[in-house]
Amino acid sequence: SVPADPTSSTEIQPDVRVRGAREHNLRNVDLTVPRDALVVFTGVSGSGKSSLAFGTLFAESQRRYLESVAPYARRLIDQAGVPDVDSITGMPPAVALQQQRGGRSARSSVGSITTVSSLVRMLYSRAGRYPEGQSMLLAEDFSTNTVEGACPECHGIGRVYEVPEDKMVPDPTLTIRERAIASWPKAWHGHQLRDVLVALGYDVDVPWQDLPREHRDWILYTEETPHLPVHSRLTLDEAREAIAAGAEPTYSGTFVGARKYVLDTFANTKSAGMKRRVAEFLSAGPCPVCHGKKLRPDALSVTIAGLDIAEFSALPLHELMSVLRDEVASAKATMDTHDHPSADKLAAFVRLGEGLIDRLRPIVDLGLGYLSFDRTTPTLSGGELQRLRLATQLTSDLFGVVYVLDEPSAGLHPQDVDALLGILDGLKDRGNSLFVVEHSVDIMRHADWLVDIGPGAGERGGDVLYSGPTAGLAEIDESVTRGYVFGGRGLEPHEPRHPRGWMKLANIRRNNLHDISLDLPLGSLTAVTGISGSGKSSLVSQVLPALVGDRLGTSTTADEPASDDDALLLADEPEDLDGTVTGELTGIRRVVSIDQRPIGRTPRSNVATYTGLFDHVRRRFAETPEARERSYKPGRFSFNVAGGRCPTCEGEGSVMVELLFLPSVYTECPDCHGTRFQSSTLEILWRGRNIAEILGMSVEEAHDFFTGEFDIMRSLTALIDVGLGYLRLGQPATELSGGEAQRVKLASELQRSQRGDTLYVLDEPTSGLHCADADRLVAHLQTLVDAGNTVIMVELDMRVVAVADHVVELGPGAGDDGGWVVATGTPADIVDAGAGPFATYLAAALS
Ligand code: ADP
Ligand code: ADP
Ligand code: ZN
Ligand code: ZN
Repeated sequence: SVPADPTSSTEIQPDVRVRGAREHNLRNVDLTVPRDALVVFTGVSGSGKSSLAFGTLFAESQRRYLESVAPYARRLIDQAGVPDVDSITGMPPAVALQQQRGGRSARSSVGSITTVSSLVRMLYSRAGRYPEGQSMLLAEDFSTNTVEGACPECHGIGRVYEVPEDKMVPDPTLTIRERAIASWPKAWHGHQLRDVLVALGYDVDVPWQDLPREHRDWILYTEETPHLPVHSRLTLDEAREAIAAGAEPTYSGTFVGARKYVLDTFANTKSAGMKRRVAEFLSAGPCPVCHGKKLRPDALSVTIAGLDIAEFSALPLHELMSVLRDEVASAKATMDTHDHPSADKLAAFVRLGEGLIDRLRPIVDLGLGYLSFDRTTPTLSGGELQRLRLATQLTSDLFGVVYVLDEPSAGLHPQDVDALLGILDGLKDRGNSLFVVEHSVDIMRHADWLVDIGPGAGERGGDVLYSGPTAGLAEIDESVTRGYVFGGRGLEPHEPRHPRGWMKLANIRRNNLHDISLDLPLGSLTAVTGISGSGKSSLVSQVLPALVGDRLGTSTTADEPASDDDALLLADEPEDLDGTVTGELTGIRRVVSIDQRPIGRTPRSNVATYTGLFDHVRRRFAETPEARERSYKPGRFSFNVAGGRCPTCEGEGSVMVELLFLPSVYTECPDCHGTRFQSSTLEILWRGRNIAEILGMSVEEAHDFFTGEFDIMRSLTALIDVGLGYLRLGQPATELSGGEAQRVKLASELQRSQRGDTLYVLDEPTSGLHCADADRLVAHLQTLVDAGNTVIMVELDMRVVAVADHVVELGPGAGDDGGWVVATGTPADIVDAGAGPFATYLAAALS
């Protein structure tokens, strides 16, 4: 008999069926896609791909899972929001691997996010070589994050912070009144510390170097914080007279030693500016006990292949794998040949070692063998992080799930995409489904099924234009994607410009860059390319802005996101930056590095605040007759300061709910319903809309709405030009992908008047962009160059590399096998030289 519901039949390949999806911009979409297949979602940025794949399919699967494990959480799930969809059937449990958004902790590393660290600790604990007479340690004793394992001197940080005297007092010929103690706060607090010193009987009017040593030591190093009445702004003699005369003290002040002030401020201040200021007086040195290895001494005495666990964790993973293979082979040989006294231990080593090799293989296959376990996550790109997670999934033996992925090809050179496709096929062959949001044409061509959404972004998107095997897309006239998959669309061929001059970089060393020298053209567009890990970011994002900035005597970039992590501020500043810039820098006065770091770490920063357009909008609201009547100033329309914002959520629009056994969730604020403002603030209208409605508009909607308002339109136009017309003005910075954050920064630059004297440095500006959006962005970069500026960018899309004026290829391999300049010249030169597989990909793009 025929079953009533075809999805319950085992004869028919089960499908995932979606009916009436309306999340965000989706237009009541119906869709059927196969299971156990590679399904790729395509469309221009903002068309609705993520709303469908993540916002609807994954969210619904997640909701059902939460409900099944924790029925009591139902109320909270309802509050957290359910996807706007009529029904979904046939959806397997889902695992989402998204590109990391928002902050990352410096305490997590490649080892911890792949969960391989625990295996390594087990290996050392059970099967490591212990010195004679030392008793066996537990696995926790090898962890720098536990009290048991951490080095007792530096508490597992690996560094100790010193506040050297010559930094606190750079000029000992000055008196304290003349600010000999440079590390003290400026303004009133500095005066107060000086007044207290006078009250304590110290002379602040003799040169620092003439004070007795014990006075100097006390002022700098005391841990005491005496509190006492003082007379303001007197010399020591005057103060003595005042006290003798019984004059009334001006106020009571507290003394803090100069060193203590720096350390306390560094540890406790909430202000990034203060932190940066005091950090200048700190110097971090390796811990004298563990020498930077962060572990207690007896744990470091245990070795495998002659390496302690810190050295082991610092090896590139491909090297680690070969070390392990050799060790396992020799352990097996020893076990086979004689009755070994510690045969048990050898057997444990073989078992654990082989397990570790199995875990490493997919990481190396995904082109990440150049990483080491100890690399911290903030130094990884979003693409590297996602591929690590993907590799971790591969060994998890899950089947029957759907993996929902966000542009897994990001950061991959075309050469590495084949390995990625192999991994995706492997997951599928094990009985899983793959739903992938992608911009890579290679992955679209490899898909079993393609879902194209569009045709445009935001309001102009949200329809399924095509759902079926990739070949069928050729028939869909409306699809922007079609032209890229089947050829015929793309960037106009470009005649390389003649450079205005050359900047010469010499003896560059950083990370894996091997003392390289190269010339870069001024007034041109340069693309730096090469496989993942070859050194592109090291050169373009780390070395170039720092060196050129030094040479120009300016700081590099206008935006410097506050780091909330002490470790980042000092510890991650590698000491091996080296090199020089010589030659002409004719016409370059500024360096602007536009990177993928978040534009803000809290939901309080958003596109409107970052570009500055919100200031203009708030002023418009304050200028309305209604606002003037109520004396509402622009600040009234801010959600960052008290006044007009909702007091319950303090302008966040959401409140956090702690769940006992589950991650905490944010739910809409019950008072302002997510609008962030008090109802009285919302009563003020400008052109018929309130301030919350403005924040809810997409950039494109706002562009129609603010017609004629020049200052606001300038920012909006710049945002549309970089392909961000679909973003909502109030979209929190924490929700933006790295690529989106980078494009917001680019837009902020574009809205400034161009003087043609800037060097722009960009790291993979087209990642996360549909080809059509990438083309528009590149056209914009070309206009920057036409205006006299210089652009140097990391780029992996050969279509884009083909329209650069100059190309630098780094390689030949990754990590220590890379770091060399393999080829330079115009795109045509590179193809003619024909070096390596790269030339082939570029030749295809040029033709
Ligand atoms: P894509 O993945 O194709 O780039 P998205 O699904 O992210 O597109 O976005 C589709 C539309 O939905 C855009 O107009 C975007 O501004 C809007 N959108 C995205 N996230 C949200 C959200 N959290 N709330 C409201 N609108 C959103
Ligand atoms: P690409 O940008 O070409 O992918 P990177 O410049 O990011 O390459 O990396 C080149 C090499 O430098 C790799 O071996 C990488 O592991 C190493 N590396 C990059 N950044 C850091 C860092 N912050 N700390 C230590 N090693 C790094
Ligand atoms: Zn230590
Ligand atoms: Zn509220």
